[in-house]
Amino acid sequence: MNVTIDLPPWAVRENANLPATIESVEDRMRAVIRFSQLNVQHQTGGPFAAGVFEKESGKPVLIGVNRVMPLGISSAHAEIVTLMLAQAKVGSFDLGAEGLPEHQLVISAQPCAMCYGSIPWSGVRSIVIAASSQQVESIAGFDEGAVHPQWKEELGRRGIEVTENVLADEACKVLQAFVDSGQAVYNAKTVLKDR
Ligand SMILES: [Zn+2]
Repeated sequence: MNVTIDLPPWAVRENANLPATIESVEDRMRAVIRFSQLNVQHQTGGPFAAGVFEKESGKPVLIGVNRVMPLGISSAHAEIVTLMLAQAKVGSFDLGAEGLPEHQLVISAQPCAMCYGSIPWSGVRSIVIAASSQQVESIAGFDEGAVHPQWKEELGRRGIEVTENVLADEACKVLQAFVDSGQAVYNAKTVLKDR
């Protein structure tokens, strides 16, 4: 028994073509949102992407996308897919391990309850968010789950810096494009109904 978590071929190619470093946080987000947009366009998953970068240099480790529907795996959210693949690439379950540069997770939308929980375990030292959960829920209708009301402070207590509202409008355009494309919103009940 095993599962495979992979990126669609276009995303593998796009990763290979990323610049060696992406200096500003806005440009890192721009690259991530572009992946989310391509994921909608290619119909290879939900309208979300995430990237792991070396925080200081801006070297991209990996940008990944949501893969829930194509893989049939409810936990294959962009953050989980990206962290798994980045950890495999770096060769450590702890992206904050000694001897490694600090890592940053750049996400096209605020993490849901599951992804929020995965962040302290991953070892990233900072996260950058575009669209808010409220925007995700109101535009696309995904149920983001019950995130801790003090989620930001709780990450801060664990030494993880949070930056919100970076290119949120751009990320919202992708959410709207997903809705307009008529692709399924895969909250658990929707998936059950569709199968
Ligand atoms: Zn999630």
